[in-house]
Amino acid sequence: MENCIFCKIANKEIPSNFLYEDEYTVAFNDLNPQAPTHILVIPKKHFASLNELDDEKVMSALFKAVQNVTNKLGIKEYRTVINTGESAGQTVFHIHIHILAGRPLKWPPG
Ligand code: 5GP
Ligand code: ZN
Repeated sequence: MENCIFCKIANKEIPSNFLYEDEYTVAFNDLNPQAPTHILVIPKKHFASLNELDDEKVMSALFKAVQNVTNKLGIKEYRTVINTGESAGQTVFHIHIHILAGRPLKWPPG
């Protein structure tokens, strides 16, 4: 999708250091990390949010990518977050899974 920053990262229009890549997904560090480890896992195909994600192959690939990237980096304990909609904190409307690790994380989130 045009003017989508994460589409540009996924299709390599914007050069990025991928921590993981497969047929359906890529993972890279968040620009503004909220924990010592803050990774984003995104599908290569554009879906604005979880509400629009209607492809089961991509759904399973996203979770597999979380397992693969954490395993690759030796991260055993982490939080995954998907913000859906503005009031939930979504600012980039290309679905992404946050992986946060490396410090104690409070619950409930703010
Ligand atoms: P959201 O608030 O939508 O759940 O998360 C969007 C995340 O994307 C934020 O944590 C923000 O720091 C990150 N982000 C926004 N633009 C870029 C970018 O151009 N590159 C990277 N690596 N992360 C970005
Ligand atoms: Zn996109």
